[in-house]
Amino acid sequence: MIWIFLGAPGAGKGTQAERLQGDFGFVQISTGELLREAMRAGTQLGKTVQEYVTRGELVPDDLVAAVLRERLAYGDMGNGVILDGFPRTVRQAEILEGILDKHCWKLCGVLYLEAAEEVVQERLGGRRNCPQCGANYHVVTLPPKVEGRCDRCGAELVIRPDDTPEAIRNRLEVYHRQTEPLVAFYDQRGMLERIDASGEVEQVYRSVKEAVSRRWRQCLADG
Ligand code: AMP
Repeated sequence: MIWIFLGAPGAGKGTQAERLQGDFGFVQISTGELLREAMRAGTQLGKTVQEYVTRGELVPDDLVAAVLRERLAYGDMGNGVILDGFPRTVRQAEILEGILDKHCWKLCGVLYLEAAEEVVQERLGGRRNCPQCGANYHVVTLPPKVEGRCDRCGAELVIRPDDTPEAIRNRLEVYHRQTEPLVAFYDQRGMLERIDASGEVEQVYRSVKEAVSRRWRQCLADG
């Protein structure tokens, strides 16, 4: 069973997906995190994608789809897989349909996190990221227990290279142009769950959990 998190950068996809993973036994797959890992490791893939990611542009569809396919091939599906940050274009959504058909995997729901532009800008501006395990924090709304250190693995937190004001502007523009059409794409297929994501993490999570529990029951009943 597959779940998709859709929403602007800073809408809270990663944070919400991480919580859901813990509570429901899902496996979270973040294409952004896979690409950052490759960049940190200095692999050929990392070198190829570095410039796109740093500028806040999308990595070409076929390349990111290959990264996702490779990750899915590990086979650890838990109680379901949460795709955090994929698909981001209609072309990627079509590629994903092909992958799901091939493996007879079912899409249970698309959680669309909606938040006002000012809210996502503020979140991205205060975001801190763990370069070791990928955990996200916010200096005001989600600070680590020890300042500047990751709660999970103790590594020093950093500002992501694509969280600079210029890259943030670019990412939001790219989101509106290339990713937002997916809202209509999944709405037409009856898959879209709109979640008000402008509130605090806990509040948003309550809505996410409610939607997932409802959809999950429905998905199981449909067989
Ligand atoms: P994220 O961590 O989801 O915000 O992704 C960080 C960056 O990775 C994005 O700004 C893109 O440059 C790249 N990226 C992640 N997922 C995708 C995707 N599905 N398609 C294209 N580029 C992606």
